Amino acid sequence: MSVEHKLRVLHEALDNCRACSTVIGPVVHGPPVVSPVLIVGQAPGPREGKIGRPFAWTAGKTLFKWFEQATGQTEERVRERIYFSAVARCFPGKAKSGGDRKPDPTEIANCRPFLEKETTLLKPLLVVPVGTLAIEQVLTHKGPLAPVIGKRFQTTYHGHLTDVICLPHPSGASTWHRVSPGKELLLKALDLIAAHPAIQQAFTC
Ligand code: SF4
Repeated sequence: MSVEHKLRVLHEALDNCRACSTVIGPVVHGPPVVSPVLIVGQAPGPREGKIGRPFAWTAGKTLFKWFEQATGQTEERVRERIYFSAVARCFPGKAKSGGDRKPDPTEIANCRPFLEKETTLLKPLLVVPVGTLAIEQVLTHKGPLAPVIGKRFQTTYHGHLTDVICLPHPSGASTWHRVSPGKELLLKALDLIAAHPAIQQAFTC
């Protein structure tokens, strides 16, 4: 069975998953792109379920603008060539503060086997965690973003040795990437992504 077929089977399992009674469906995932680059987001927002794809609203517009800046590739092409995953695949609902609630430890644990399987199947050369929660999951880094944005790391993720370049969350609610030092660190991260061989490979194959 090809990797693409195995990803399709995994997506069927995802579509049928009801492990968390605390989230708001439906499950959101991208297409089964066999890619050397794995994006790990936090969780879908309130609009993605209806649209049926990850990063489909305002945060996505910013993320794809960053990718266009880094790679010269359109959103459509990035979606065709890069695999999109997330720490949780269902919208967790609103937080009391009014923003989107972050997935809780139980939801993260329930969803982890999907991410683990995707990593095992894709064996990515580059993992790009987007936002603090995804960074924490991939690098086990807790705390300020400045020490991890604009640098390239190597780590073992779900048993697989890979490079990691982190991005801040592109949410409109975050100002981190718009002011110093976040603004400059984001540019460094985008330069590192642009120069990474996995990106070259993703868009030439
Ligand atoms: S968040 Fe993940 S584990 Fe929980 S119901 Fe959705 S797909 Fe299943």
